[in-house]
Amino acid sequence: SYANRYDFIIVGGGTSGLVLANRLSEDPNLTVAVVEAGDSVFGNPNVTSSTGYGLAFGTDIDYAFQSTPQEHAGNKSQILRAGKALGGTSTINGMVYLRAETSQIDAFAKLGNNISWDSLLLYYKKAEGLQRPTEIQSQLGATYEANQHGFEGPLTVGWPTEMVGNNFSQTLNTTYAAMGLPWNEDPNGGHMRGWNVYPQTSDPSANLREDAARAYYFPFSGRANLHLYLNSSVQRITWEAQSNTTLPSASGVAYKDASGAEEQLLANKDVILSAGSLVSPLILERSGVGNPAILKQFGIEPKIDLPNVGENLQDQTTGSYGTTANLNLTGTSDYVAYLNIHDIFGDDTEQLREHVQSSIPAWADEAVADSGGTANRTAIQQLFEIQHSMIFDDEVVISEVLVKAPSEGSGSISYWGLMPFSRGNIHISSANASAPAYINPNYFQLDYDVSQLVGTVKAARRNANTAPLKNFLPTETSPGLDVVPANAPKEVWAEWLKSTYRSNFHYISTAAMMPKEMGGVVGDDHLVYGSANVRVVDASVLPFQVSGHLTATLYALAERAADVIKAAHA
Ligand code: FAD
Repeated sequence: SYANRYDFIIVGGGTSGLVLANRLSEDPNLTVAVVEAGDSVFGNPNVTSSTGYGLAFGTDIDYAFQSTPQEHAGNKSQILRAGKALGGTSTINGMVYLRAETSQIDAFAKLGNNISWDSLLLYYKKAEGLQRPTEIQSQLGATYEANQHGFEGPLTVGWPTEMVGNNFSQTLNTTYAAMGLPWNEDPNGGHMRGWNVYPQTSDPSANLREDAARAYYFPFSGRANLHLYLNSSVQRITWEAQSNTTLPSASGVAYKDASGAEEQLLANKDVILSAGSLVSPLILERSGVGNPAILKQFGIEPKIDLPNVGENLQDQTTGSYGTTANLNLTGTSDYVAYLNIHDIFGDDTEQLREHVQSSIPAWADEAVADSGGTANRTAIQQLFEIQHSMIFDDEVVISEVLVKAPSEGSGSISYWGLMPFSRGNIHISSANASAPAYINPNYFQLDYDVSQLVGTVKAARRNANTAPLKNFLPTETSPGLDVVPANAPKEVWAEWLKSTYRSNFHYISTAAMMPKEMGGVVGDDHLVYGSANVRVVDASVLPFQVSGHLTATLYALAERAADVIKAAHA
């Protein structure tokens, strides 16, 4: 036993935290503790089912945080889901395994970080254990380019056990050809435009969800140097006695165990926050790291003045388009189409490019105002310029349209706007860790985001109304032509979208990896600015959205972080 002292304390045994726990404890000379608020869900059928997306929602493993009323969307608040379990949000998510556009990862370097697509690709591969499709899966549309993938990594990735037949992928191929959208052999290669039958984080042969605990913890749980504290909720970081000559150094963490008693663990080396983008910034604030004005309001002694903790919160929005169907398919493969700015806006693209460009200064003003004045206007403007360039110059995909195979009389197409500009924030509302936080994603703060989602849902409608798919989806039920007529103006679409959208649960950037002057909280070594040994490794650090789904990139980033941390202590 190590009593209560470890080299590394990892706060949060989730998607990112368990990658770190695994890689750091590979070295038998390093001792690692994982402190996780939730329990093991190894045998929980709401988790293990590879076709049971949504079963875990509203159960005790779903935090189901509430946003503040959303000012730009009818003052309704949103449910913000996140997983409370060993494995974190990977135990309740949609299992989509899709990465990013090359330029979205290269954008890290534009902010001064030593991260590029080429360097991260090594870590995407290191994490991944792709299960090659069977002959039947290949016939049903599963394709990949071998040189983009890893086959030996801990994270099992594959195509659904029971894929959809009836030539449905051929139906879609002809439909998308008519829409001018090509088949993409492998959207995980950094170029996402086109349509594809995507792989997921599941094990096709066992027909089980693959989550972070199954991949990175359970097979390694026997390591003597790796200790797990379940049902243990970290309240705050504890600090070494302050000296004037060195940076503040964490001594460990204070946590509440299952009985509610407060306990302490001590760290020889680092305290690493991997509690997710809606918790890690709050732990920093309760530990005295953040905006002194906010901390003092709740009686917390400021330790490190870092006003951008909890700022820059970004999330995408999503919704569902519905039809009747005269085709009853079985199987669970979904079909994803990714569209860029030209696919969505056609001849109007140039006009939109100029509109967005000329709006950036005013949008930066608005973002600064909504941050309570903490955001640096020049920096926000620079971030918006980079985002503009990704959308209009690099032509990253901005829209995701996901067709579900029609069954039992209905068809459904989910749609996502992928590159919103809006920025909100998250802060503590009390020094007490059990009090709900103030979480404001600020959906639709900036007009581009409305245009993007309207363009995206129109693409979903176009998709449903293009033959041959059209022949199987006779009547639109949602929104319905009575609610949003054909050729409805943007305002009519926007009203419907704002009353039906939900969070895409892709919250990022609340402890962003970028220079401190630009609003960053950590550097590319994941160290919190101004601290000697506190790091953040989770979705909080992503400075920009990625057009894929987050876990593929988070697993890769955590793999990289493990190497960086090992090297820092070598
Ligand atoms: P998490 O995985 O959330 O880990 C944080 C961990 O910290 C949790 O285990 C939590 O219990 C623990 N924790 C929190 N507070 C404390 C505390 N005080 N003390 C100790 N432990 C604490 N992404 C995809 O790639 N594909 C998808 O299909 C997909 N679908 C999604 C569907 C839903 C419903 C949701 C909610 C998300 C989805 N995502 C998807 C997003 C993705 O799953 C998350 O972004 C990702 O898992 C977050 O990883 P993380 O490491 O940042 O945090």
